[in-house]
Amino acid sequence: MSKLISERIKKVESEGKKAILIDCERCNRKVVVPVSKTSIIESKTKYLPIAYIHKNSRKDNPHCLLFELDRDFKVQLSKAVDCFFSTQKEDKDFQKLVKRDVYIYCERCGETITIPIPEYMVKDSLIPKTPISFVHNNKFGLDQHCLVAYLDSNFGDRDTRLINMIIIDLFSY
Ligand SMILES: [Zn+2]
Ligand SMILES: [Zn+2]
Repeated sequence: MSKLISERIKKVESEGKKAILIDCERCNRKVVVPVSKTSIIESKTKYLPIAYIHKNSRKDNPHCLLFELDRDFKVQLSKAVDCFFSTQKEDKDFQKLVKRDVYIYCERCGETITIPIPEYMVKDSLIPKTPISFVHNNKFGLDQHCLVAYLDSNFGDRDTRLINMIIIDLFSY
């Protein structure tokens, strides 16, 4: 294990969190995810879906590692997906991108929301259904959460998944 990783584990655990080590296919290395212990112990479901948003030191956008944790802190189904934030709509670089609006019902917001998905995220994808995560607040600007939409190459067939637990950590690996 690299010195950087072991130092990071030490730091996370000294803050009273559990350090979860996961291989991120996009960073091409292990990342350390700081998870609040109580939220896992008190979780009402057997597997808790978590989105870990992070970036690496390469010229890559922040991305989202989706996974599930069981109550023994075992990792299931981890996958790195493209990610963007509703606040990026204000961003000049984001405005320059070619986007496609998709309309998706968000259970947590209790309404249909418009997601301006950058086209390249779907067009450059090598898989038939591309998961894209969208971090946003409710209409009162509170309660940040993450909706994952699975889009086919026509931006259709929109299976969705709601992730209530997001950890945003823009420390670069
Ligand atoms: Zn990564
Ligand atoms: Zn929502």
